[in-house]
Amino acid sequence: MVGPTPHPTETQRAARMMRDARCLVALTGAGISTLSGIPDFRSAGSGLWEDCEAMTAASLTSFRHNPERFFEWVRPLAARMLQARPNAAHRALAALEHAGRLRAVITQNVDGLHLQAGSQEVIELHGSFRQATCTGCFAVVPTEQLLEHWLASGGMPRCAQCGCVVKPNVILFGEQLPHAAMQRACEWVQACDLFLVVGSSLEVNPAASLPYQARGSGAELIIVNRQPTYLDCRAALVFHQEAAEVLAALADEVLCDRAPA
Ligand SMILES: [Zn+2]
Repeated sequence: MVGPTPHPTETQRAARMMRDARCLVALTGAGISTLSGIPDFRSAGSGLWEDCEAMTAASLTSFRHNPERFFEWVRPLAARMLQARPNAAHRALAALEHAGRLRAVITQNVDGLHLQAGSQEVIELHGSFRQATCTGCFAVVPTEQLLEHWLASGGMPRCAQCGCVVKPNVILFGEQLPHAAMQRACEWVQACDLFLVVGSSLEVNPAASLPYQARGSGAELIIVNRQPTYLDCRAALVFHQEAAEVLAALADEVLCDRAPA
């Protein structure tokens, strides 16, 4: 059940826009997963990013030269990601896609929770923690069992085939975004006429520029984020609220088909 929302009229307006949209695309950031227990690890104040040590540990150069340090740093985050389950916001987006109301989710998150919730067209701009690549034989492996073993035993996760260290398929500092993912994201940006931002403060490029490009191509914007963003002034509707609360209410409203077309 969804609690009462403080802005029923705005929810109805947003739902109307979503029903009327020819092509609705969503961009999600860390704010959609905080209720699932994953800290916003790129934001100041979240603890993980507060010292420069962490910033260095999560860079590509550091990983190459000192992978032990990376795995030591990423251990608490990895533990939370393995335990995390999708929340109402992830489920709402999956339900909207299944009902044919949402075409794609572009995400800055590496937690894999959109796929777990059942979303199908998911573009993971910063990669995914659910897979890893062996640094020796380049085999791509699912991380769940590998990381469970690593979390229990310490050291570094290693390839079952060749014994080399595996690198989670997440984009580190100094590493380029996956070209194919970025290209797919840009195609959806061009195709959409309504762009929904969920739980992103729009501070990390190039993801942050996607809604700007969408707006420039004539799409309307709806922004759901606890903090203000640089694009609030150009959005048709802005919700400074918890993503799960807003999205659950929106999906209910869109999918119930109560309102006349
Ligand atoms: Zn290997």
